[in-house]
Amino acid sequence: MRILFISDLHLYSARPDLTRALIGFLDSTAQTCDQLYILGDLFEAWIGDDFIADDLQPVITALRRLSDSGCEIFFQHGNRDFLVGERFAQLTGVTLLDDAIVIQLASGPALLMHGDQLCTDDHEYQALRQQLRDPQWQQAVLEQSVEERLAMAKQLRMASESHTANKSTQIMDVNPQAVTQAMSEAHCKLLIHGHTHRPAVHQLKDGQQRIVLGDWDTSGWYLDASEQGEKLIEFSIN
Ligand code: MN
Repeated sequence: MRILFISDLHLYSARPDLTRALIGFLDSTAQTCDQLYILGDLFEAWIGDDFIADDLQPVITALRRLSDSGCEIFFQHGNRDFLVGERFAQLTGVTLLDDAIVIQLASGPALLMHGDQLCTDDHEYQALRQQLRDPQWQQAVLEQSVEERLAMAKQLRMASESHTANKSTQIMDVNPQAVTQAMSEAHCKLLIHGHTHRPAVHQLKDGQQRIVLGDWDTSGWYLDASEQGEKLIEFSIN
């Protein structure tokens, strides 16, 4: 059993190179795995499944190609693409996951999260997250026109940029206690997440491990998990 994990590609029209890199990844590397987990922020913005930008259509098709070829694909929402829904799942063949789930790897159980919920020192962001993840709020947004939602997405992105520019990097990283608590509640010695854009394999106490996936920019990243263990892999995008 070979399982791959990716996150934080932040696909959008201004970065066709990332879309190409993902399609290349889905059509080659991912063809040899049994399962692919996308742990959030596949898209820089997502305003609802009823509006899929033309330049992202090939991504939908490539995901469908991979799932049709027999690879199971799973999708966890990030803080950018929290409006990905059932229609997207039907089009691509992916299965939508809850915010925090445990899966079995050869090395034992692993807890999977996007990771933003672990950044508990950033109180302002956590308040916003509650709103963005509220089903009633999401439903109200989905009833707005495409123009209104595009404007909202732009505003959220600008707010996020100014927010991150004014916060210390420590506040925007995961909180160690939140990590310990999440892992002990889930009875897992391995946590895999994205979001922080700080790819690393952290050895924690008591043999616990926290693997952080990387964002795709000039490099792409994936985690390869098999009977041989877990390997975090970086590759060049061009
Ligand atoms: Mn994120």
